[in-house]
Amino acid sequence: MARDFKPYTITQFQTFINSLKLKRKINHIQIHHTWEPRKSDYKGEATIRSMWRYHTETRGWQDIGQHFSVAPDGLIWDGRSLEENPAGIAGHNSGGIMFEIIGNFDRGEETLEGKQLDAIVAAVRVLMSKFKLSTNDIVFHREYSAKSCPGTGISRDWFINEVNKRKIAELNQNSYENADGWKRIAIDWLYEEGLISSGDWKDNVNKGLPLWAEALVLKRIYDKAK
Ligand SMILES: [Zn+2]
Repeated sequence: MARDFKPYTITQFQTFINSLKLKRKINHIQIHHTWEPRKSDYKGEATIRSMWRYHTETRGWQDIGQHFSVAPDGLIWDGRSLEENPAGIAGHNSGGIMFEIIGNFDRGEETLEGKQLDAIVAAVRVLMSKFKLSTNDIVFHREYSAKSCPGTGISRDWFINEVNKRKIAELNQNSYENADGWKRIAIDWLYEEGLISSGDWKDNVNKGLPLWAEALVLKRIYDKAK
């Protein structure tokens, strides 16, 4: 039996969260690191699936413990249903949304930085705004446990400061919102002319279209010219 997991970019995560209508009441956000797998072990969906397998087969849980796993490449992978409490902090899971940041962030091990830091900070900001939470509602695992999680290299003050100081739109460097003005003008033209329609392309404006989408654009131009 295998289970599929879905990756979100920051922009897709924001769209997904904002469209949610949860029955469960959300009152805090849990921050964890995986410790193992390390950042250097990350192999896309296979890594998420191996955590799921460990949680369900070895530990006997109903599903993977976390709601989201944040990867070194900045993708946010889905996990346990958001209508279920996570399996993150013994005795303190009610009302929580749980993140596992993939890596070992104990001092002297790996560093939370770059796209991965952007992604966790943006995700936390999106949830705070959706569920009317404050930085006081951000919970580090070690606040309720003898563990170092999410790593002795991450201080709460530093993390809260990162959450406070950055705007969501600034965090996805390849998003339309963050693109130079001249790029946005060109992209606007494509949409205005109806040459492309799906808003998803705006998540990565520095990447090319796949062949089929390019063919569609060419066909639309060809049809217009006829
Ligand atoms: Zn933890």
